[in-house]
Amino acid sequence: MMTIPLSSGDAIPAFGLGTWKSDPEVVYDAIVEAIKVGYRHIDCAAIYCNEEEIGRALKDVISQGVVTRDDLWVTSKLWNNSHAPDDVSPALEKTLHDLQLDYLDLYLIHWPVHQKKEFFFPEGDDIFVAYDEIPIIDTWGVMEGLVREGKLKTIGVSNFNIPKLRKLLDTVEIKPVNNQVEGHPYLQQRELLEFCESEGVAVTAYSPMGSPDRPAQMKACDEKSLLKNEVIVSVAERNGISAGQVLITWAIQRGTAVIPKSANPGRIIQNIEASRMTLSDGDMAAIAALDNGYRYVKGDFWERSDSPYTMDWLWNE
Ligand code: NAP
Repeated sequence: MMTIPLSSGDAIPAFGLGTWKSDPEVVYDAIVEAIKVGYRHIDCAAIYCNEEEIGRALKDVISQGVVTRDDLWVTSKLWNNSHAPDDVSPALEKTLHDLQLDYLDLYLIHWPVHQKKEFFFPEGDDIFVAYDEIPIIDTWGVMEGLVREGKLKTIGVSNFNIPKLRKLLDTVEIKPVNNQVEGHPYLQQRELLEFCESEGVAVTAYSPMGSPDRPAQMKACDEKSLLKNEVIVSVAERNGISAGQVLITWAIQRGTAVIPKSANPGRIIQNIEASRMTLSDGDMAAIAALDNGYRYVKGDFWERSDSPYTMDWLWNE
């Protein structure tokens, strides 16, 4: 499995399994199947509400001798309602307990958005805390302590734009090794990728297929499908592979890690096969021309009348 070196000296597998929207009833089988066919990187988060089932699957594949704990790269994410320094360790403990692990390979701050502790889901009124009220450096400081304690191998962020990442990089002792952001041919994020590369921060691309199974309320009515894009389809036909495989191969070939979600046995195999394929320079260039800045995960759920957060602040500043 190809890996991407991290500033910590570790290396993250360039291909992994996403688990958002993998229902608790199906995620156990998806994880077992994935690990059996060679997946070594699993992307989790407390807010996906399926870490307990993932934990059972991890325990079983390890106890059956399919893999050892050290063979796996497990990422999870600190949710928005646990950014206050006193809340970070308990949130990690819950994730470690659910995943039945002693340590995580990577723990990310999921969003640069604070919610009040009592609101886990971003639902209800008056749920937000202003960004400056909990200095992110304080949240980070606790995460650094958890690295020193051996509960986290590495730490990073998600959905951080350049100014937020620069501020963190300028002030912390242990640098973020990874920024997990949306990435696919419509949202190539070249400036962010260049910045991350210059600062030694690896980038993981989420929603590489355009997240077609996300809830209807998160979708625009005129949303364009990546999997049906005519350039992607023609590259797929030319190479005798599927559109999904094109998107995975492209993501890895341009230097990002990629974590497509699948709970379907056939696509779980298809996707890992794609992690070993390559595209020609011509195909890479044709896909590079598709960039139009389109976001599927817009973050508009943080922009509400009672919220201090706006999409402009999140992505552009
Ligand atoms: P995605 O991986 O772009 O799309 C998942 C959808 O694509 C599912 O409907 C899946 O169906 C389908 N699919 C998978 N492989 C396919 C293939 N080869 N051909 C056709 N369809 C295929 O969307 P995502 O779940 O939004 O993103 C991936 C992962 O990134 C998440 O699961 C999560 O772990 C992470 N993520 C992180 C953040 C963050 O804020 N940090 C945000 C979004 C996502 P089947 O399951 O039926 O195969």
